[in-house]
Amino acid sequence: MMHRYVLSLALLPVLACSGTEAKDDTGADTGGVSTTTEASTGTTPATPDWVNPEVPDGPIPPPEGTGTEPEEGDFDWSGIDEERLDERLPREDLSWEEYPQYGTATILDWSDSEACVCFDLDCSTCSEADCSAETCTYDLNESHTLTKYHVELRATEYTDHALTFEVNVSADPPIEYTDIQDVLNRLERIPVEYWYGLQIITEFGNGIQFLDGSYFGGGAAAYGGMNYIDTQTADVPVLLHELGHTFEQYTRLGNPPALEPQDNILNPVWRHAIRVDDIRTSRYGDSNEWEDMAEFSRLHALCLIEDSLGALRARSPERFRIWERILLNGTTIQP
Ligand SMILES: [Zn+2]
Repeated sequence: MMHRYVLSLALLPVLACSGTEAKDDTGADTGGVSTTTEASTGTTPATPDWVNPEVPDGPIPPPEGTGTEPEEGDFDWSGIDEERLDERLPREDLSWEEYPQYGTATILDWSDSEACVCFDLDCSTCSEADCSAETCTYDLNESHTLTKYHVELRATEYTDHALTFEVNVSADPPIEYTDIQDVLNRLERIPVEYWYGLQIITEFGNGIQFLDGSYFGGGAAAYGGMNYIDTQTADVPVLLHELGHTFEQYTRLGNPPALEPQDNILNPVWRHAIRVDDIRTSRYGDSNEWEDMAEFSRLHALCLIEDSLGALRARSPERFRIWERILLNGTTIQP
């Protein structure tokens, strides 16, 4: 926005110039160009984009030339090219340990939660008198008992920036696939832009829950929404997919007055984006438009991690534009 404004200021006098004013215009032009340079270097300052970003007013616009009226029936994939984004992106198949570390995760020694909350890894201190990972628990339902932690993620690149949220690990049944230390290590490798999703599910629910497989029916690895991420895996790409559902629902259902709901974000806005981009995300994304969006969330984060966002934008520009704005909407969860 800023950039375009400065650019048009710089160009207008040149377009309007006549011979007699050439000197002045040259001066204005030079001034404009140097201002433009300042503006563009100003977008990579000491303060990263994700620190208190400005969220534009109003709903996310659909692709140019498309409408905002919801469509009847399921999304029709028959006209969409068979090529899939995940065939080429991300370029590298990094394991999560190879991801850059975006933050430092700390277990906080305070909590507003009414459930017992552990204040350290071993739960030697907690919010109640009887502390241990076995005793400081709460019942999610009659067959799942969890241990709760209040976690802070603080950005490595800009240490003034921190978010807090809740992490829950199944105590009974006990789980083998992860533990609180492993969870913290993985969360530290989720890009900062996605942290807000962890705060959203804490504000509207219990925070992320690492559960025993018996909680899940029908072969699902995890469930994600605006008020929960329930998972039976600590696989980071799965979490990035579920965070996609969290952000999508946050934009669709809103959080007034901080964010007005946008009930057409999937149908028709994202549907139009799929058609305009004329490419698919992944085989699983073919299920419907919200799984397509969650898959795009995963691919976007993985491209961010390996620095290939430009390639993703080039191949799916409308999804890219809308998704970055949905991520931005997520920042309104912060007070
Ligand atoms: Zn999904």
